[in-house]
Amino acid sequence: MVRIGQKTYQNQDYKNIFAVGIAFAPPGFMSKPFVSSKGVTIAPAIPRTGYTSELTGKAAALNIAEMIQGREPCHTASMAETAGMCIASLKNSLFKGSACTIGIYPIVRNRERFPEHNGRDIKAATVELGLAGAWFKRVLHHAFLHKLAGKPMWKYIP
Ligand SMILES: Cc1cc2nc3c(=O)[nH]c(=O)nc-3n(C[C@H](O)[C@H](O)[C@H](O)COP(=O)(O)OP(=O)(O)OC[C@H]3O[C@@H](n4cnc5c(N)ncnc54)[C@H](O)[C@@H]3O)c2cc1C
Repeated sequence: MVRIGQKTYQNQDYKNIFAVGIAFAPPGFMSKPFVSSKGVTIAPAIPRTGYTSELTGKAAALNIAEMIQGREPCHTASMAETAGMCIASLKNSLFKGSACTIGIYPIVRNRERFPEHNGRDIKAATVELGLAGAWFKRVLHHAFLHKLAGKPMWKYIP
């Protein structure tokens, strides 16, 4: 089994191998498949979202640059400190549209920091359904395409 360090996204045995985004499987119970008493496979996994992939990819890229320059990798992107957001489109219409907006923080439960709500910040964990989400999704869609195409002012889109 390939073991990847939790924060640097570096293989624990082969230091020049990294895994990020949805390719990354955190060690321990989060990735270990189980079988129920009725023989059903239970394969737990953390939510795998775009923002997580971006942060883990950035940390790995900076760590590879550190290694090329002869230094120890020091860039981390802990999923116990990372937020996740997902907008699932339900109906694409300007005025009758609908989407489900889901926010979660942190992605991996941090019971030390948020002991009262089983590891999650309850103020940043939310689910909303409605037209606002559909508009949010539409705005993000056009903003990201604008940025990717390098159109005027693209640098100002985060
Ligand atoms: C329908 C849908 C809606 C989603 N909505 C949201 C959302 O609202 N918010 C959110 O945060 N996340 C959302 N996600 C999840 C998000 O898209 C993924 O978590 C994210 O794209 C994963 O990024 P990644 O770079 O790890 O993997 P990917 O984006 O899957 O990139 C992997 C790349 O590797 C390439 N590849 C695969 N095999 C090989 C090979 N052998 N050789 C070379 N290249 C290869 C693939 O072509 C691909 O380009 C959604 C996902 C789906 C499917």
